[in-house]
Amino acid sequence: MTTKRDYYEILGVSRNATKEEIKKAYRQMAIKYHPDKNPGNKEAEEMFKEAAEAYEVLSDDNKRARYDQFGHAGMGNSASGGFSHDWTIDDIFAQFGDIFGGHFGSFGGFGGFGGSSRSSRRANRGSDLRVKVTLTLSEIVNGVEKKIKVNKYLTCDACGGTGAASGSSYSTCSTCRGSGYVTRVTNTLLGQMQTTSPCPTCNGEGRVITNKCMSCGGEGVVRADEVITVKIPAGVAEGMQLNVQGKGNAARRGGIPGDLLVMIEEEKHPQLIRDGNDLIYNLNISIPDAILGAPVEVPTVDGKVKIKIEPGTQPGKILRLRGKGLPEVNSYQRGDLLVAVNVYIPKNLSREEKAIFERLAKSSSFSPDPNDKTSFFDRMRGAFE
Ligand SMILES: [Zn+2]
Ligand SMILES: [Zn+2]
Repeated sequence: MTTKRDYYEILGVSRNATKEEIKKAYRQMAIKYHPDKNPGNKEAEEMFKEAAEAYEVLSDDNKRARYDQFGHAGMGNSASGGFSHDWTIDDIFAQFGDIFGGHFGSFGGFGGFGGSSRSSRRANRGSDLRVKVTLTLSEIVNGVEKKIKVNKYLTCDACGGTGAASGSSYSTCSTCRGSGYVTRVTNTLLGQMQTTSPCPTCNGEGRVITNKCMSCGGEGVVRADEVITVKIPAGVAEGMQLNVQGKGNAARRGGIPGDLLVMIEEEKHPQLIRDGNDLIYNLNISIPDAILGAPVEVPTVDGKVKIKIEPGTQPGKILRLRGKGLPEVNSYQRGDLLVAVNVYIPKNLSREEKAIFERLAKSSSFSPDPNDKTSFFDRMRGAFE
C-alpha cells in the first residue's frame, strides 16, 4: 500500500472549501490531466485517477466528514468508504461524466464526451432493415403469411455475439487508453483545433478483445440470409408499413437488434379497382340486356359471382354487393363491391340492324321520360356517398 496524498492537497483547495469550489477544482484537474489531452502519459493518467478519487470523497458529505476525522484510515474498506477497487478511466466517466458535459464544450474539441454520448455507446443497437412485399388483392382480403429472405447481420453462433474466442478476455484499448474517444489536435492560423471522435481501434468501447472469434473476426455478427415469416393482417393497403421488432440487423457484440420494416405494395388487379375498402368493377352490358334484363357474371376477389341485371337498367346504375370489398385492418368490417353498369352502344351496324333502330326510334317507349329527373350524375354520386 502506497502512502496517499491528502485529498484537499490533490485538488488544491482549503479544508473548508465549499462544494462548488471542490467541484470547480476537480473539473480543472480533470481537464488538465484528461487522457485524451495526454496520450501515453502514465503520470497524467495517475493524476486524473487521483483527482477523481479525491472528488468522490470530498463531494460526499458523509465521506468528507469521515475523512476529516480519520484521514485515509477512515476510508479503509468499510462498506461505503473510498474506492473499493482500482478505478478505470471508464468508471470515472460513468460516475462523473455529467460534470464534464457542457463544460468541456467551451474547449471546442471536448464537446463529444458528456455523460450522454458515453451511455449511448453502451446501448448498441443494430440498424433497421427495409423490405417490400407485393400483395395481390386476394392476399389482402384474407391476410397472408409471407416468407421473406433477408440478407442481414446475424448474431455470430460461434461466440454468441460477444466477438470473443472461448477463453478470451478484455484489455483496455491502448489507442484511447480506455476512454473510447480520440482527440486530434490540428494547428491552424487561429490556434490549435481539437476534434474528438470515437476510437477507431475499439469503436468507442474502450476495451479490446484479446482473442477474437474466428468466425466473425471479433464483430459478434456475421452476414447471412435469414428467412423471416411475416404475418400480414387482412386489409392492409399500398404504402402501409409493418414493423417486425428485433428482426433487423443484429447489433455488434451483443446489443439490441434493429427492426424489420415491411413496406406494403399492391399488385394491380386486372379488373377490380380499389377505393379504400370498396372495390369497383366496370360492367359493360349490351342494349338488349339493359332493356330485357339478363344474368351476368362479375369478378370478385374470391372468384366470380352471378348477378341479375333487371329489365330497364340505366347506364351509370351502381349495383352494390355488400361485404364483397376489402376488410378493414383489425376489424370485422368489410367494404362493398360496386358494380358500375355501362351500356355499350355499337358504332357499326348492318343495314338490317339500322332499319330495326329506325323503326324503334318512332316508338314512344324509346323517348326519354320527361318526368324522370334522375340524372346519370345523380346515380353515380349516390353510389359513393
Ligand atoms: Zn463470433
Ligand atoms: Zn479505443
